[in-house]
Amino acid sequence: MARAPFELAGVRVAPGSRSQIDVPVARLYTHAPLHIPVEVVHGRQAGPVMLVCGGIHGDEINGVEIVRRLLRSRQIQRLRGTLIGVPIVNVFGFVQHSRYLPDRRDLNRCFPGSESGSLGSRVAALFREQIVDQATHIIDLHTGAIHRTNLPQIRAQLIPGSETERMANAFGAPVILNADLREGSLRHYAETRDIPVLTYEAGEALRFDEWAIAPGVRGVPPVMRRLGMLSGEKRRRTPPAAEVANGSSWARAPIDGILRPQVRLGARVAKGELLGRVADPFGNAEGEVRSMADGIVIGMGRLPLANEGEALFHIARFDAIEEAENAVETFQSSLEPPPDPLY
Ligand SMILES: [Zn+2]
Repeated sequence: MARAPFELAGVRVAPGSRSQIDVPVARLYTHAPLHIPVEVVHGRQAGPVMLVCGGIHGDEINGVEIVRRLLRSRQIQRLRGTLIGVPIVNVFGFVQHSRYLPDRRDLNRCFPGSESGSLGSRVAALFREQIVDQATHIIDLHTGAIHRTNLPQIRAQLIPGSETERMANAFGAPVILNADLREGSLRHYAETRDIPVLTYEAGEALRFDEWAIAPGVRGVPPVMRRLGMLSGEKRRRTPPAAEVANGSSWARAPIDGILRPQVRLGARVAKGELLGRVADPFGNAEGEVRSMADGIVIGMGRLPLANEGEALFHIARFDAIEEAENAVETFQSSLEPPPDPLY
């Protein structure tokens, strides 16, 4: 029996073909129509339906480039199953360089949404009904917030032996966080529907960071291969080691002032180690930011201006800190050309 076409927003995509589909969302105030751009690659053979989406937060643009490169890569031309690539989910925020929707709502707190709710709720409901509910597996692409950057990391609910755990390991990010689910997030919604889902976090909002984009582009195909969506190509590179963090916390500014960081993203730090100094502009008052644990710096602020209590360095803790340090070093040395300081 012939494989059925894939249908999305009323468009039918025949097996062995691909289509770019503009999914209509609410209009702008000006009455100009707005669309979520989607590309569907529908394989000749049956298999999983993988959704790879970026820009749920409209200012997080690394994911937009990851989806573009993934869709243009030759290896997905002969995939088994279906790939749905959505470079920009929050098109409203993207246009305004904003994380949020025009009603100041965070789309990633609006799931599952409702057709009769506010704008955020409606966009979530539309995206869910048209796209998310068709997926069997999801990779959701994010970056740090504005003025904050993240070491490439996978966040997922790691139940031992689960499909999500296998996907997380296949991705090959240097760090995996067994992260709690946030109510209203896409990841939370997907988990309630038993759709295995990974969140990839890397780099900073409103920037293209090649050291964050490249590992994202590199990480998706091994996950698809693991799910049987891609075959052949026995390019059996040893998958980069990834270590699972057993917790994380932020080191905060001790006083109001200007930060001079002492460590880089990806650095291994010891409990009590100096991470940075915060001083007033004259240097009369100065406070030290110290690490509260042995760990790896997996996120940090990029704006050196801080109020007391501001989160400055995100430190992940590991049972096997040596292995975690090795995983980060292997990852950094795998980047060509070498990253200009990972900061
Ligand atoms: Zn985000």
